[in-house]
Amino acid sequence: MHSTMPDVPLTVAHLLRHGYTVHGASTVATWNGDGFDRRSYAEVGERAARLAHALRGLGVRPGSRPDSEQGVVGTFMRNNARHLELFLAVPAMGAVLHTLNVRMPAAQLAYTVDHAGDEVVFVDADLTAALAPVLERSANAVKHIVVAGRGGRAALAGFSGEVHDYEELIADQPADYPWEDRLDEHTAASICYTSGTTGKPKGVVYSHRSLYLHCLRVVTPDNYSLSTRDVLFPVAPMFHVQGWGVPHAALLTGADLVLADQFTQPSSLARVIERGRVTFGVAVPTVWSTLLEELDTHDYDVTSLRRAFVGGFACPPALMAAYRDRHSVELLHGWGMTETLGMVSAARPPQRVDHSEEWAYRVSQGRFPASVEFRLVGTDGALLPHDGRAVGELQLRGLNVTTAYYGGAATPPARPAQNFTSDGWLRTGDVGKVTPDGFLILTDRIKDVIKSGGEFISSVELENTLMAHPAVAEAAVVAVPDDRWGERPMAAVSLRHGVDIALGDLRDFLAQRIDGWMVPERWTVVPTVPKTSVGKYDKRGLQDQYADGRLD
Ligand code: ADP
Repeated sequence: MHSTMPDVPLTVAHLLRHGYTVHGASTVATWNGDGFDRRSYAEVGERAARLAHALRGLGVRPGSRPDSEQGVVGTFMRNNARHLELFLAVPAMGAVLHTLNVRMPAAQLAYTVDHAGDEVVFVDADLTAALAPVLERSANAVKHIVVAGRGGRAALAGFSGEVHDYEELIADQPADYPWEDRLDEHTAASICYTSGTTGKPKGVVYSHRSLYLHCLRVVTPDNYSLSTRDVLFPVAPMFHVQGWGVPHAALLTGADLVLADQFTQPSSLARVIERGRVTFGVAVPTVWSTLLEELDTHDYDVTSLRRAFVGGFACPPALMAAYRDRHSVELLHGWGMTETLGMVSAARPPQRVDHSEEWAYRVSQGRFPASVEFRLVGTDGALLPHDGRAVGELQLRGLNVTTAYYGGAATPPARPAQNFTSDGWLRTGDVGKVTPDGFLILTDRIKDVIKSGGEFISSVELENTLMAHPAVAEAAVVAVPDDRWGERPMAAVSLRHGVDIALGDLRDFLAQRIDGWMVPERWTVVPTVPKTSVGKYDKRGLQDQYADGRLD
């Protein structure tokens, strides 16, 4: 029997149109250091239409089927309203959005520009100097640079293509556009590259359908739980896995959006939350931890902020407890990766658990939604039980789990054996256990595991325990070579502002809480733990510094 329901494609165009009509009065507010530049979703819709016309004028080809040739538009931008316009206009017109990670090394960025085939790149005016070396290294496929904001042109003097101004480019264009909402939902909408800490960055291509379904899912009560009454603050960069779904969710729900642009210092974030009356934010643990220090030591009114999402690496329970106890903010923990289109699991305690048991659920990486299948696999390839004890590699497949990496315009998609199993599951490279009721508890990434004398030490457990010490602001633990044990843990800690403590005291603190053989012998105090381009602890960097004798 055929269903009587229509086959309506799920597209970004649909999200955009819904946002600028039904929620036309909702606003996106970009912080300018002093106050907000505000724009309604109705205006965003108009400007997106002008932008789409302008892109057509620059020769960007729209496509409406997965096999059509689609133009690729790069963005080298921060979280701001213009970036939001591109987020919507580029896929909605049938082209592909490539969000460039502005903190990635130039050589890697040039690789992604060439690999994705960017023809036009949009850049914030204050980032042109960072983009110039990328263009120098790329193979010249980029024909147009569009600069958003004042200044910054001089840095592009060596660029052989055309340089445009964002506002001038869209100024005289028509304010409506025949959005491609009848396009095939399997058509590419955007591409994101992994941050390439090991090897070349790998491209994951998101379809309209996957973005739409992801967006529908993140707003649900067991995930972000968003509504039209929220004020959303994605601190996670929009270039990192599509801003973790928040920009699209804003258009879907009509929640207001608040964006920090280049003002990402803790004091600016605190002010943005206060002045923007933010209700929900998303960021990696290191952002929440530096913000905590600011909130603890200054007087801000952040009472509007009730819930926030944290992921990207394991969130120390002590950080979650501090937000809960000192600022009445519920930090919701979740897990995701570029390959899964952002955050997929969320740590909402199940029904029928006692208050006393809730915390163990909250600090886990959470439960997967029905759209994602998961399994744990041992080193011998055997499937492991979900009994909360057996530890193995997490493997996934499902609606928003990629099945391959983008190969390039003329090359088929790649399925490297270290990333995909022969039966089609994604190897996440994460190790952990799963409880009988489906909660994921990660102990490490495979590449971060510390193997000491044949026994595994969880870097995450050591970090979480150290972070519970009141003097510790950040703690990263990495494996370093050891003559006797093969590897041993090395702890790099940064201390809270104005606090001094003997390392012996930290060692004792650990020894009282974990097995003695796991306690590191090697310690170093750093001003701040080095971070990767997406704000995670740079464990490779720490190991290199140790190997070069640059750490005490
Ligand atoms: P990259 O791989 O470049 O760091 P991703 O954002 O794709 O960029 O990283 C995904 C990885 O981040 C996951 O495989 C996992 O190791 C880690 N991760 C994400 N969220 C969490 C979390 N809540 N707890 C522990 N690890 C996490």
